[in-house]
Amino acid sequence: MIHLSKLRVQQFCLISCFLAIFSCSNQPVKEAKAATVQEDTISQNSIVPVPVVDTVYHIDTQKTYIYLTFDDGPQHGTMNCVKICQQEGVKASFFMIGQHQHMKSDGKQIVATIRNNYPQTLLANHSYNHAMGKYKYFYQHPQMALADFLRTQDSLAPAPKIIRLPGNNAWVRNEEIKASRLVRPVSKLLDSAGYNVIGWDMEWNFDHKSARPVQSPEKLAAQLDTLVAHSYTHQPKHLVILTHDRMFHRSPDSLALVQFIQLVKRNPNYVFETVDHYPGLKK
Ligand SMILES: [Zn+2]
Repeated sequence: MIHLSKLRVQQFCLISCFLAIFSCSNQPVKEAKAATVQEDTISQNSIVPVPVVDTVYHIDTQKTYIYLTFDDGPQHGTMNCVKICQQEGVKASFFMIGQHQHMKSDGKQIVATIRNNYPQTLLANHSYNHAMGKYKYFYQHPQMALADFLRTQDSLAPAPKIIRLPGNNAWVRNEEIKASRLVRPVSKLLDSAGYNVIGWDMEWNFDHKSARPVQSPEKLAAQLDTLVAHSYTHQPKHLVILTHDRMFHRSPDSLALVQFIQLVKRNPNYVFETVDHYPGLKK
């Protein structure tokens, strides 16, 4: 059991709002109506950041690297994720949507925060408008899709050339393209343009109406242990977790993220890392 201090629980306060959501899954893009929503519930003043170190990088073969990734920001919940990572002293990657920075009054500021907070948080490309939920059409026009990702690169200005495809789990690295037939053409174009594409090994699922997490932190941590133990990952000793910013905009769900991170941190062989350190990427 995780025992969280009363102080930490008190860090979460309530704000009501509506939530615009875009999905990484094959669900169409839609707006969610949340009956009671608390957003960005953690006060910046309550955070005591734990610094992270990014020295000359080498992979320790004795360790297992955990890549915590948040998709579809900036949106409600993004800053909770950032603050929790700061609080827990872990690294994470944010695959962001270019258009979203204009849909939230502080969207550009959030993007800048994540970009400037490197090496703790990494900003990466997740398309300009998430294909408007029309994934088949998007990928059947690979030149158009490529232009969309290039536009996003200009718009968000992430440092590395790292992309996650909307609505599809694909990988493009040095000498590797692992992609379904639908996304293979754009994957090849991205590869030729020097881009990497990062998929995922496991997902923290969420309810598509409420945006709330499905698995408990304990169940997710056990799932992670199983995948690592059996090397059921794209690359042994490297595990990428897909989550979405909007899952953590409510207090109890932010707490679930804290609990999950603390469970993973109990294993001294696990290291949280950003996806720019995933093996085999083109530089
Ligand atoms: Zn997405």
